[in-house]
Amino acid sequence: MTTTPPPRTVFTAEDYRARMARAVDAATRAGLAGVLVAPGPDLAHLTGYTPPADTERLTLLVLTPEREPVLVVPALEAGEIAHATGAAALTLRDWKDGADPYALAAPLLSASGRYAVSDSTWALHLLGLQRARPGTSYAALTDALPMLRAVKDARELELMAAAGAAADATYEEILTVRFAGRKEREVARDLAALLRHFGHSQVDFTIVGSGPNGADPHHEAGDRVIAHGDMVVMDFGGLKDGYGSDTTRTVHVGEPTPAEQHVHDVVREAQRAGVEAVRPGVACQEVDRAAREIIEEAGYGDLFIHRTGHGIGVTTHEPPYMVEGEELPLVPGMCFSVEPGIYLPGRFGVRIEDIVAVTEDGGRRLNTSGRAMALVE
Ligand code: ZN
Ligand code: ZN
Ligand code: ZN
Repeated sequence: MTTTPPPRTVFTAEDYRARMARAVDAATRAGLAGVLVAPGPDLAHLTGYTPPADTERLTLLVLTPEREPVLVVPALEAGEIAHATGAAALTLRDWKDGADPYALAAPLLSASGRYAVSDSTWALHLLGLQRARPGTSYAALTDALPMLRAVKDARELELMAAAGAAADATYEEILTVRFAGRKEREVARDLAALLRHFGHSQVDFTIVGSGPNGADPHHEAGDRVIAHGDMVVMDFGGLKDGYGSDTTRTVHVGEPTPAEQHVHDVVREAQRAGVEAVRPGVACQEVDRAAREIIEEAGYGDLFIHRTGHGIGVTTHEPPYMVEGEELPLVPGMCFSVEPGIYLPGRFGVRIEDIVAVTEDGGRRLNTSGRAMALVE
């Protein structure tokens, strides 16, 4: 069996113990009996453990006020857990193939308890728990306890800032490469290589949308050859030391037309307004409204076709969302994107995105590379 090296981490077993205790407290305050966490970003965040694979074999962290944290784990993977920093804070209950892991987990749950369950838990596992403990009920973790991962502590914020700085360095470097005459996917490869060069262990996306492709926010990078006169949207990010980066800049190959410059100016102003709306107590939807108002006043309201932002942390896209209807108030330590855009079908698109951390007195940008439209060759 191959073993994966332990992930580089600045967190100790005590940190993970404290995080798990906070999760139990938050669940209790929310009237829940506990928190159940299957493999995924929540398990990594709470224990430092990333299983070799997320499979049909049940791995489940059970956090309740009644007992110390328990990890139900397949016997053949129990050895892997020793690599996780948080292992010292866990009691293991292993099960062998052929045994019923849900029957093993059931006595850890109260007969009629309501539990928060991690969003990425397989339906197979949740149905197994319901069968083994029919009186229990469940709520999605991010719905029930949205602040659990959303609010970062001081060291997490340092790691977020370092990931942001690496993305900014990537952007500064990409401005020096050749655009005209190369395919989008070649520039995307450059972005990925630079992210890794600046310390990312995982690249999640490298969007390069040139000319009309920039008007499609979901366009990744394709075979289109970038031409002189193109606008180019670049949106890239991934994980560095376990925390996410995600930034977007829109550049122009050669001199822009006044119309192109105007659209870019509007998006830049909208992005500034979104960031300036950030302060503790303000609802998430206010960030969206502040950015959207600028774009609507400029007459492009129907061309801003997505929400203004999303949370980020141990993954690059997560709740809460900066969107109309999200009334969750901002809290110091939250990190999320502010990324308004304008998309002119068949012509070009502009998006500008920074990650912002909520501080006591406003929003702190974790991306500080220039937002003026850079001219490339
Ligand atoms: Zn142009
Ligand atoms: Zn992005
Ligand atoms: Zn984003």
